[in-house]
Amino acid sequence: MSDESLVCDFCSGEPIWVYPMLHTNEVVMMNSMPIGDLDRDWLACDSCSGYIETDDSMGLQNVTLTSWKHHIGSINKLPGDWVERRQKLIIEAVHRVFYSRRNGARYLLRNT
Ligand SMILES: [Zn+2]
Repeated sequence: MSDESLVCDFCSGEPIWVYPMLHTNEVVMMNSMPIGDLDRDWLACDSCSGYIETDDSMGLQNVTLTSWKHHIGSINKLPGDWVERRQKLIIEAVHRVFYSRRNGARYLLRNT
């Protein structure tokens, strides 16, 4: 795996930190839809890690929401507030997985 393919799991920025996770082999579902491969350690950029370390979960959600708006241009035909509500629900669910499976302190991605 090449380093360039790694992105912050919260904002798609450049990852600096690794958050060890409990591995459960459980697929996270929302409304009967799987919402991503979450069964691995998570990566965070310095900025998002700051929200995590200060327990600012709302700040983290807002960063993720802004990042998603930036990346998702193809569903603009849907009403903006509907899309935003839906994205918020997914982000809340994904972040809940993160907080419930955190397993130990963060460490630097490249500490060699
Ligand atoms: Zn980030």
